[in-house]
Amino acid sequence: MIQASQVAGDHMRMNQAIKIQTRPQFAGIPTDNLSALFRYCNRHYFNSELRPSSGFRLTFSRSARLSGCFTYCLQTHEDWGIAISSRLKCHPRALVSTLVHEMIHMLAHQRFRETGDKDLLDEEEKPGQPFVNRGHGAFFIGQLEQMNERFPHLGLTVKSTFGDHLYDHARIAPARLMLVSICPLQGKGMVYRLHERAELNWSHLRATAQAMHGVSDIQVVEVPGQLAEGFPLLRRDNAPRKNMKRRVLRHFASKTAALLETAGVRELTQTPAGARITRNPSECHIPSCENTPASHLRIHPAGHEPESYRHRM
Ligand SMILES: [Zn+2]
Repeated sequence: MIQASQVAGDHMRMNQAIKIQTRPQFAGIPTDNLSALFRYCNRHYFNSELRPSSGFRLTFSRSARLSGCFTYCLQTHEDWGIAISSRLKCHPRALVSTLVHEMIHMLAHQRFRETGDKDLLDEEEKPGQPFVNRGHGAFFIGQLEQMNERFPHLGLTVKSTFGDHLYDHARIAPARLMLVSICPLQGKGMVYRLHERAELNWSHLRATAQAMHGVSDIQVVEVPGQLAEGFPLLRRDNAPRKNMKRRVLRHFASKTAALLETAGVRELTQTPAGARITRNPSECHIPSCENTPASHLRIHPAGHEPESYRHRM
């Protein structure tokens, strides 16, 4: 029998094992060297056209919501900087794809400064021209498509998704989710992500479910990290974060049934003496949902958009 503390220990050791793998690189450049990567990308993908404004900064951000962010002055259109989410350091291809995406924005503003042609900024939709949202219109998409054709390994997108094919899945740490069944009759429930260093404390988790939704019917599952994206994160002591919204998911039973059938997902169960891991995924199911058609969890609400640049004055 495996005790609860052992389960938490297993989880942490797995996280550590992922962290101590070799230093990730792209074209021989360590991913933590943004300046060198920028120079490489400018030379290889932009024909060295980009000339950063004075004071331009390349930084890593702690954001998990945004993969990348381009900032510039609204008045002069000079570039201020590009920030890349530091968690992309473990994923060279995703990092470079995000960096190049932001560099296309930089190119648009540089060419606007040179020519005064407002169309380059893709600020509004024009009839018959591609437009996704502000900043991602005909010029941006045209550049993106040309680059993807010439350099397919970049896999450029307008919107990126954490854990897609550009990510090194072996470097994404597994995550734990608490599934809270709120009202089975109405198909309502909610999913929370446990803090990566949280102890698996069932009574604390039930108290959190009670505080948030007035119920204590919970399951805890360990999932490949990318499947945990977008769910609200609990504190390290398993309590809700301050001002955490009481969100509810619909079709909860079928969504959780689908999740439990996904490769790499396993349920963590509690016994009177503590918790043990259910090793056989086929044992993991919600009896009342056996005949429910599987549907995929919507796991990527809002976020990871490298296109989300900031306007600053
Ligand atoms: Zn963008």
